[in-house]
Amino acid sequence: MSESLLDCPYCFAVVEPEWRWCPVCRCRLPESKAYVLEQQIVKCKSLIEKLNERFSMGEVSEKAYLDLKGEYQQKIRDLERGMEAAKLEDEKARARNAIGDGAPMNQT
Ligand SMILES: [Zn+2]
Repeated sequence: MSESLLDCPYCFAVVEPEWRWCPVCRCRLPESKAYVLEQQIVKCKSLIEKLNERFSMGEVSEKAYLDLKGEYQQKIRDLERGMEAAKLEDEKARARNAIGDGAPMNQT
C-alpha cells in the first residue's frame, strides 16, 4: 500500500499517484510514469478478459482471438519492462529530492 504513496517534491505532503496537483501547495506534481504504465497494463488485461468473453460466446473467430490476444500479451510484456525502468526513475527522483537535488528551479 505505502508503495503507491508519493510525496509532493515541494512541500512533502503525501499525494496519490494519480493526482496532478498537490492539494497543499498547489504545485504541479511530476507525473509518475510507472503509474501511467500500470494503468495501461490494467487496461490491456481487461481487454483480454473482454476478448475471452466474446470468444467464448462465439462472436470472435479463433484466428482473430489468438492474434489479438497475442498482441495484447506482447504489449503487456513491453509495458511491464517499461515499468521496471520507470519505477527506478521514480525512486531516483525521490532520492534526489530527499538529498536536496529535487525540483529543478531554472538551474543553469
Ligand atoms: Zn505540495
